[in-house]
Amino acid sequence: MSTMLSMAYLLAGVFFILSLGGLSSQEKARRGNVYGIAGMIIAIVATVASAAVEAYTLLISAMVVGAVIGLWLAHRVEMTAMPQLVAMLHSFVGLAAVMIGWGAYLDPRNHLEGAEKIIHNTEIYLGIFIGAVTLTGSWVAYGKLQGVISSKPLTLPFRNGLNALAILVSLAMLVMFAPGDHSASDLTMLTIMTVIALLLGGHLVAAIGGADMPVVISMLNSYSGWAAAATGFMLGNDLLIITGALVGSSGAILSYIMCRAMNRSFISVILGGFGAESATADDEEYGEATSASHDDVAQWLKDADNIIIAPGFGMAVAHAQQAVAEMTDKLRKAGKNVRFAIHPVAGRLPGHMNVLLAEANVPYDIVLEMDEINDDFPDTDVVLVIGANDIVNPDAKEKPGSPIAGMPVLEVWEAKQVVILKRSMATGYAGVANPLFFRDNSAMLFGDAKESVQQLVSKV
Ligand code: NDP
Repeated sequence: MSTMLSMAYLLAGVFFILSLGGLSSQEKARRGNVYGIAGMIIAIVATVASAAVEAYTLLISAMVVGAVIGLWLAHRVEMTAMPQLVAMLHSFVGLAAVMIGWGAYLDPRNHLEGAEKIIHNTEIYLGIFIGAVTLTGSWVAYGKLQGVISSKPLTLPFRNGLNALAILVSLAMLVMFAPGDHSASDLTMLTIMTVIALLLGGHLVAAIGGADMPVVISMLNSYSGWAAAATGFMLGNDLLIITGALVGSSGAILSYIMCRAMNRSFISVILGGFGAESATADDEEYGEATSASHDDVAQWLKDADNIIIAPGFGMAVAHAQQAVAEMTDKLRKAGKNVRFAIHPVAGRLPGHMNVLLAEANVPYDIVLEMDEINDDFPDTDVVLVIGANDIVNPDAKEKPGSPIAGMPVLEVWEAKQVVILKRSMATGYAGVANPLFFRDNSAMLFGDAKESVQQLVSKV
């Protein structure tokens, strides 16, 4: 690799690290994105200009088609469908790793000897394996998020044994494949391993259900990074190794943080099966829920000093964030202490609510994480739960048999008055009934969240 190219790759790598650093806080996130874009431009220009690239017409036409589709998709996609888009993009990384791996294997120029051959074959094998797991895992995740596949976990008998067997067989074949000379049996082994890895990826994610999906998304993010790193080794491309490792490790760290936030062990999430018995909660009889009018709620807000807003997926669906920001502004101007309580998995992707509130110019200092605000509910006069459900479910704390038992939740029921803005009594993503709606200090404000909040804005 020429010195110029290495320097360019190093510079791009530095920009990617700065970008990740920037994305760790809301104030610096915009700058982080700019660094990421700069790193990507340097990487693409340096690669295209390098001596190894000759087929310019093919490359540029593919880039134009890809860029047009990417721009169109990014403009079109709703914020609520972002996780599906992310899952699709992860699947592309997996697909690329599989195709590059197979391409490298079938390349007639691929004539290495001794240790070099073993290493190269191992890189190809692992690249295809991780890529195939990422590919089908991401497809199943897309299906679950889009509602095409049930979000309930698929619990086949001996599922952990099946996964272990798939991994052991793949490893055993690797031992035979690595020193091989591209014989017919090597080709068969690579084909069998590809099929096993494709099935394994789909099965791993199918077994994970309900509220554990956030961890799956960041886990697939991590897999896609490792798939890219493996491709980097295969192609001898330093930048791909660096970026792959950055994505792989940051995805793994994010998965760990999310597991800790949800009080689950990483291993238990990967092994799946969570949420299988969600029917138990639905069968229970909770009595009648109280319904409030917009005038009632407006009056409660006028009388309150301390107000907390707990937003969830429904605020995103309703595009209610601007109206919520307007209401917050009005209440604050009237001297009330208004704050936001953000659950780590509120919405459908990590940081979903923070992005929406930032977009609506809600000041950062009144947007608090769950741990920072959870003890303040008993001193709160009114809590507005806007389009949230699972993240405010008391069963998570109080009912050991509940499918979401153990997951930390916003303890909104401790406040004097709770108002839940949603359209019906339907369950949330985890498919679990919510006894919060039936508590004495709870009232339902039925209707689309945006319309309800707009009505409140006009009345307070
Ligand atoms: P939930 O999915 O639990 O609940 C959202 C609620 O919003 C629904 O009950 C729905 O009720 C209501 N809603 C939908 N549309 C509207 C509307 N237009 N106006 C008013 N209300 C509306 O969301 P939460 O944010 O509480 O919890 C997130 C869930 O998603 C968790 O289970 C989490 O594990 C999971 N998840 C999170 C991911 C992440 O990374 N954050 C990724 C994948 C899953 P109704 O239909 O009656 O209106």
